[in-house]
Amino acid sequence: MEDLIALGQKYVMNTYRRLPVVLVRGSGAYVWDSEGNKYLDFVSGIAVNSLGHCPQVVTEAIKEQAEKLIHCSNLYWIEPQIKLAQKLVESSCCHKAFFCNSGTEANEAAVKLARKWGKGRFEIITMEKSFHGRTLGSLAATGQEKYQKDFRPLPAGFKYVPFNDLKALEDAVTFQTCAVMLECIQGEGGVNVPDPGYLQGVQEICRKNNLLLIVDEVQTGLGRTGKAFAYQHFNISPDIITLAKALGSGVPIGAMLAKEEVAEAFQPGDHAATFGGNPLATQAALAATSVLLDEKFLAEVAEKGQYFKAELAKLKEDFSQITKVKGLGLMVGCELSIDALPIVEFCMKHKVLINAVGGNILRFVPPLIVTKSEIDQVINTLKEALLQNHK
Ligand SMILES: *Cc1c(COP(=O)(O)O)cnc(C)c1O
Repeated sequence: MEDLIALGQKYVMNTYRRLPVVLVRGSGAYVWDSEGNKYLDFVSGIAVNSLGHCPQVVTEAIKEQAEKLIHCSNLYWIEPQIKLAQKLVESSCCHKAFFCNSGTEANEAAVKLARKWGKGRFEIITMEKSFHGRTLGSLAATGQEKYQKDFRPLPAGFKYVPFNDLKALEDAVTFQTCAVMLECIQGEGGVNVPDPGYLQGVQEICRKNNLLLIVDEVQTGLGRTGKAFAYQHFNISPDIITLAKALGSGVPIGAMLAKEEVAEAFQPGDHAATFGGNPLATQAALAATSVLLDEKFLAEVAEKGQYFKAELAKLKEDFSQITKVKGLGLMVGCELSIDALPIVEFCMKHKVLINAVGGNILRFVPPLIVTKSEIDQVINTLKEALLQNHK
């Protein structure tokens, strides 16, 4: 394993802070490293492997499609792409789908669509602590200085306001504004949940000013929060929804959904992606969504999420290092008064993979197929980690 990591350090560009293991195999909620160690995976590729590793429905669909047609151009109609579009439309408030390959690309598409729809209005208001991706447009939409500072100039036309502050949003609207874009629950920014009534307030401001409401569901989408889409918890009806992470159950695919009157703004030639919605990716996503969008499955996610949060709240009573437990469904955050990295490292040493954001927030995005006893195992490991890390 060490030799492989040394090779990686020599040949792979240094863009990630990586933990020193090589993962080679996965099944359900578990992954194995190249030395045979088994880990309980509460990172799941950062909310990608929602059905766990190598779920049979998806693996079979990939195998079958790989022998039939892996790729063809969007110059022609693609059967699984059409069926996936239908499925996403029928389970959301939108009417049309565009496919791409990642979350950042889905957000780029949303920015372009909003501007074309805006007929000259171009400004998009986004949130502080948001995360929308790393390509220049999505990076400009991301309200975090640390990601932007070395890459200016960024595309113009983005404005940031604090999350959960309706007054600031209302004040930021100008005659040039065409849209508001936000995550229903901020992921990368620290698992930040909206205040009661906030998202409805945002929608009201959008309706009043004829602005599009764009919801970035790249992380929250497709069951993560216990509903198909996170917006469905908040009694709102976004005009554009972006998706990626869990959509292909590990196969790279992104999507932008839009309401009819918004989607109409795009005409042939306005936007495209060579790989977007190709047969292999959309067949995998069709298989994944056949489970992810199932009502019974979603109800179980909600229930397990409540259990997980309740167990963390119990832990909070015993450990003063935990200052806040937050999240929705199986997107859970645990804010600490101490640095989160030693906790993450302790857990890995004890064969549990978890992730940290913002330096002091533990982020748990386990596979949605996780069991209560696996949640218990993580709680127990966390307990040991907190016993050893007081400051
Ligand atoms: C991960 C993420 C993105 C970026 O997705 P990529 O596939 O890495 O480009 C965008 N928005 C949100 C909310 C995300 O969590």
